Amino acid sequence: MKLVGLVGWRGMVGSVLLDRMQQEGDFPLIEPMFFSTSNAGGKAPPQARHEATLRDAFDIDALKRCDIIITAQGGDYTTEVFPKLRAAGWSGHWIDAASTLRMKSDAVIVLDPVNLPVIQNALAKSRNGGGRNWIGGNCTVSCMLMGVGALYKAGLVEWMSTQTYQAASGGGAQHMRELLTQFGTLNAEVRGLLDDPKSAILEIDRRLLAKQRSLSESETAQFGVPLAGSLIPWIDKDLGIGKNRDDEGWGVSREEWKGGAETNKILGQGEGFDQPAVPVDGFCVRVGAMRCHSQSLLFKLKKNVPLADIEQLIANDNAWVKVVPNNREDTVRQLTPVAVTGTLDIPVGRLRKMAMGPEYLGAFTIGDQLLWGAAEPLRRMLRLLIED
Ligand code: NAP
Repeated sequence: MKLVGLVGWRGMVGSVLLDRMQQEGDFPLIEPMFFSTSNAGGKAPPQARHEATLRDAFDIDALKRCDIIITAQGGDYTTEVFPKLRAAGWSGHWIDAASTLRMKSDAVIVLDPVNLPVIQNALAKSRNGGGRNWIGGNCTVSCMLMGVGALYKAGLVEWMSTQTYQAASGGGAQHMRELLTQFGTLNAEVRGLLDDPKSAILEIDRRLLAKQRSLSESETAQFGVPLAGSLIPWIDKDLGIGKNRDDEGWGVSREEWKGGAETNKILGQGEGFDQPAVPVDGFCVRVGAMRCHSQSLLFKLKKNVPLADIEQLIANDNAWVKVVPNNREDTVRQLTPVAVTGTLDIPVGRLRKMAMGPEYLGAFTIGDQLLWGAAEPLRRMLRLLIED
């Protein structure tokens, strides 16, 4: 039985991962060893068997004992520990939720319902000493490809533009807490006025805005600015302005850059592959949703394909995608973060041809970014390795 090290299991992604592993009966198939960056020597969670004590996540000798390590601890941890572990001669499989290693040539971005052939090819090479680094994709990209990957697989996409609406939990556990705290503060500020049906709405609005603008540093520690009752049109690092469009930075955020780079790498297109890259670009926006990343997509298709054929193509692609009829009632009931949170469903709706012409297709899709966008591809990669 393979010894599997679990790092980052207490965080947002890690907790969902543990839940899913429990639901799918993964634990009886492995010998788990739990690690912690903050509580080494503490009690491991109930899934532990022989290794009931939390190990220090920076202890290279303990990590080296594992056949497989699965981490959702974050990029700083990967940057610090992974090179030391490989330098110490460890040749096990590293499965990671962080972006640190995603674009390395010896790393595969794992999303098996979309790119199983790419994974299988790399698995075969890994048996002969090839790369053993399996990295979960950017949450927004993975959810998008689970929804509309069929259009790419069919070679229909000339380019795609995406506008995202990303939940607070994309930043982790502390970000969710901050958003809820802000909602509470804002509600408390105007509660008396809300309770009085005769109070003036402009007074409520004025008081609310004044409170939003005067939230303390501790109330905005994670996002830097208020998110409750607002939005933030920048996610992840500022890549700056490059000299030309092909530089990483051209006024794009790192999250936006990932959209193009990772979509193509997952599909086995672009640099290092035989197929050319498809242009993918857009804007990534943080909104006050708790969970789920939503996105509005605009495709330029290579040809005019009837809408009914497109719907069928998308619906038949995998077991989780669901086409939502493009009408008001189905949309407001089925195509919201509240409807999708906690499920593996990937609804795709608002499918329609746009005013620009019959090759221009619009769509709206949502995915629980903690499931298909993070924990689920990692869990399924673990399963592939156990069964290999
Ligand atoms: P997170 O919730 O901040 O958890 C990361 C670590 O923070 C935990 O393992 C825990 O480590 C520590 N921690 C400190 N205070 C905590 C608290 N109050 N509750 C829980 N844990 C706390 O981060 P995350 O969102 O899971 O992200 C982990 C990695 O996955 C990152 O690389 C991220 O980019 C990536 N990712 C995240 C998402 C997402 O939607 N959140 C999606 C895809 C990928 P110790 O137990 O060792 O102290």
